Amino acid sequence: MPDLTNQQFILKSRPTGMPTTDNWEYRTAPAPQPGDGELLVKVHYISVDPAMRGWMNDLKSYVPPVGIGDVMRAVAVGEVIESQHSGFRAGEFVSGALGVQRYALTDGSELFKVDPNAFPLPTYLGVLGMPGLTAYFGLLDVGRPEAGETVVVSSAAGAVGTVVGQIAKIKGCRVVGIAGTPQKCEYITGELGFDEAINYKKEILPKRMRECCPQGIDVYFDNVGGPLLDVVLMHINRAARIVFCGAISMYNTTSAVEGPRNYLSLLVNRARMEGMIVFDYVHRYPEAIVQMVQWMREGRLSGREHIVDGLEAFPETLLKLFSGDHFGKLVIRVKD
Ligand code: NAP
Repeated sequence: MPDLTNQQFILKSRPTGMPTTDNWEYRTAPAPQPGDGELLVKVHYISVDPAMRGWMNDLKSYVPPVGIGDVMRAVAVGEVIESQHSGFRAGEFVSGALGVQRYALTDGSELFKVDPNAFPLPTYLGVLGMPGLTAYFGLLDVGRPEAGETVVVSSAAGAVGTVVGQIAKIKGCRVVGIAGTPQKCEYITGELGFDEAINYKKEILPKRMRECCPQGIDVYFDNVGGPLLDVVLMHINRAARIVFCGAISMYNTTSAVEGPRNYLSLLVNRARMEGMIVFDYVHRYPEAIVQMVQWMREGRLSGREHIVDGLEAFPETLLKLFSGDHFGKLVIRVKD
């Protein structure tokens, strides 16, 4: 194998509030050589996810924090360029936690093979990746929507939200999406077939929520937390299910995280709010992928990616998740 140069983003310090460029070191080093049982992957696309902000904190969570001095954790797709592992061959494409770097050395654990001829590689980070799987299991296993029910989803034009809304439509629900720009609202109602969209930055929320959900809310897929959750709680039905998937409005807070104020509504309505983490469903990923591929082939499920060029753009690209300055699944293309 020729000498290859790796480029990596290393976590240099932990942020207080919004991450800054000072939190990162951009390191250049020779790419490692795979030893027995290892393989080297050339990363093509890196998924930029809200969860990354949580992984930067030194707090107990569902995975350990990224250590200071470690390569930033990221899901990515790439090509195996050298393998000393019996399960992988050079030329195969894989997806997994490869990190924010150009070349990843791995022992193959929790690595999935993907077919670049079946779908473009970024699709394996979006609809057929962690966000799509989160939407699938969060909605169907935790939200359990029934035909005719009203499903509301926040961050509705994002990677998870778009899939939630489309699956809810497939299941025969009335779907209301909440998003932050008129373009995003037009996209979810126009292209994706949601019944209504609410621009939470422009519209009077309780009033629009009443108009859009005349029968009340049966399932809320919460990606955002904060004041939006409180408005939803005012409109839930008896036995409503709230899928607690994320709380992006709280990820950069420098004060204590705020819980819902209107939580008595859960009691009055005998409602349920349940956290979910996609990694708990890893043994069922194949079942979800088979179903979602079928829906994609039938033209009932689609996604879009917002692709930023160049590994070196990682620090400012991460911030787009919090400003909403992206449209669809946020991905970095690692240039040759
Ligand atoms: P995304 O929706 O593609 O991107 C984030 C979006 O959040 C932004 O585009 C922005 O959209 C919205 N946003 C940012 N700050 C906001 C605020 N203060 N109030 C309201 N909206 C805000 O990201 P994603 O990958 O699909 O993730 C969505 C959520 O799912 C996140 O909370 C993430 O942590 C969670 N998640 C959970 C799991 C799990 O296993 N539990 C797995 C994957 C993702 P607007 O322009 O519409 O404001």
